[in-house]
Amino acid sequence: IIEIEALNKWYDKFHALTDIDLTVAAGERIVICGPSGSGKSTLIRCINGLEKIQQGRIVVDGIDLTANVRNIDAIRQEVGMVFQQFNLFPHMTVLQNCMLAPMRSRGISAQEAETMAMKYLTRVRIADQARKYPSQLSGGQQQRVAIARALCMTPKIMLFDEPTSALDPEMVKEVLDTMIGLAEDGMTMLCVTHEMGFARSVADRVIFMADGKIIEQAPPEKFFSSPENEKTRSFLGQIL
Ligand code: ATP
Ligand code: MG
Repeated sequence: IIEIEALNKWYDKFHALTDIDLTVAAGERIVICGPSGSGKSTLIRCINGLEKIQQGRIVVDGIDLTANVRNIDAIRQEVGMVFQQFNLFPHMTVLQNCMLAPMRSRGISAQEAETMAMKYLTRVRIADQARKYPSQLSGGQQQRVAIARALCMTPKIMLFDEPTSALDPEMVKEVLDTMIGLAEDGMTMLCVTHEMGFARSVADRVIFMADGKIIEQAPPEKFFSSPENEKTRSFLGQIL
């Protein structure tokens, strides 16, 4: 469902991604980890057209991101994204946050958008907070709203960029549980996270990045028990 070929990305002269090749099958769950500055966020952001790429090709669900800038809008409709900082609109209620994008870009009625929003807010177990503003919620609750908001666009793929790193420890689990639920429902997911318990139990494949490159990728059993690359070993040594 995602095909990336020979992707290279520069920020001015800084070479942020080097020769990235990555194929993701529908329903696959991928965890991406690696040291700070290794290009994890950049890669995720390239996949839904948030970053300009200079070389290579990205095709998402048959839509070639590199062929036509207009395709970026089409791809964003299929790809949901959840950030470390929840990025909810502070002046809108939880419900309004969830209704906005479907009404704007899918042209559905307020009534339909509300029904859909309530469905996904129920799914992330936060429907009772629908009339509150983001600032009235805990971090974990805000992140679950952010997930519900992304799901309201009925994406085929969900991208997560360190969705739990801004949370107090006691709230990490509720967000991970929500993500596990999504995985169990068969969602295609790419998650940048250092939650290695999540990687072990949910990921089909763990990808390790360093210096803008994919250094190693393997199923979690293999990745954690017998990493091949020295950089992977040293990284795992630091975080496990
Ligand atoms: P972290 O774990 O800290 O989130 P990361 O693996 O997500 O790191 P990226 O954010 O993808 O790393 O950044 C990769 C490199 O690109 C870093 O060296 C960073 O300084 C650089 N970079 C990222 N965004 C920009 C930008 N907008 N302009 C210039 N350089 C950038
Ligand atoms: Mg990052």
